[in-house]
Amino acid sequence: MEIVLAESLGFCMGVKRAVDMAYKALEKSDGQQIVTLGPLIHNTQEIDRLKKDGIEEADYDAIPANSTVIIRAHGVAPQAYQDLKSRGLKVMDGTCPYVHYSQRKARELHEEGYTVVIAGDKSHPEIVGILGYIDNQAYVVKTLEDARALPFLERVGTIAQTTISPWKYRAIIDILREKSAEVKVCETICDATEENQKAVRELSGEVDLLYVIGGRHSANSNKLVEAAREKCPRAMLIETADEIDLRDLEGVSRVGISAGASTPDWMIQTVVLMLRELDSTRSAAG
Ligand code: SF4
Repeated sequence: MEIVLAESLGFCMGVKRAVDMAYKALEKSDGQQIVTLGPLIHNTQEIDRLKKDGIEEADYDAIPANSTVIIRAHGVAPQAYQDLKSRGLKVMDGTCPYVHYSQRKARELHEEGYTVVIAGDKSHPEIVGILGYIDNQAYVVKTLEDARALPFLERVGTIAQTTISPWKYRAIIDILREKSAEVKVCETICDATEENQKAVRELSGEVDLLYVIGGRHSANSNKLVEAAREKCPRAMLIETADEIDLRDLEGVSRVGISAGASTPDWMIQTVVLMLRELDSTRSAAG
């Protein structure tokens, strides 16, 4: 049985970078405690691994003294960053470069006198962080209805949450154009999750069965399964290698693998190893 990995799968660059940063900090820690400000990633198994290795998650108000704090990929408001430093903590900034770009763009728009409109969810940590760069002086619109409800604005500058759908951002911009004299658009959507989607679509037409490795509640993993099923009806979601059922592999000569944006490489490897093992057991029996 041939095992084929999608060309793009698993961790996005931003999350990978933050996790690597945490492990580098641990290596150099000299006994100091390493904590992450909130969960570094939405994957239970990876969070357990981090904990086991000594990288704990902490709330903003409960960070142990003298520890090293890793800012996760979503970023934080500059005030929060300064506050952590003034508490004498060592701060390592794992903010994704794409999110840094959004923060910079928001500040530029604000300084140039535009009314900033952010397409996204105002309770999402990424947006909370961006708002901190412009003293919360922005409208945040989550839906097209929110955009329609805005007053007439003279000069508007737009930012999008990095993970919103490009379609939705376009639709919000169109609404703003109808009610504003000038709209300056900043392209801040990240295509990391789109790349995984594109790759799974390509692979799904070439395999008999396809496993997407990811959390049951992970929206992007479920979207990968949906995309794969267009051409491969036998695409399915698994959280761990233990869920692979030998009966599913009957008659399968090519199996594809994809993984959600919060699935670490080591979990992908475990699935590959399990499939190899099951395949050799099957060959030996047959
Ligand atoms: S902006 Fe993109 S690359 Fe960065 S953390 Fe978010 S999804 Fe990952």
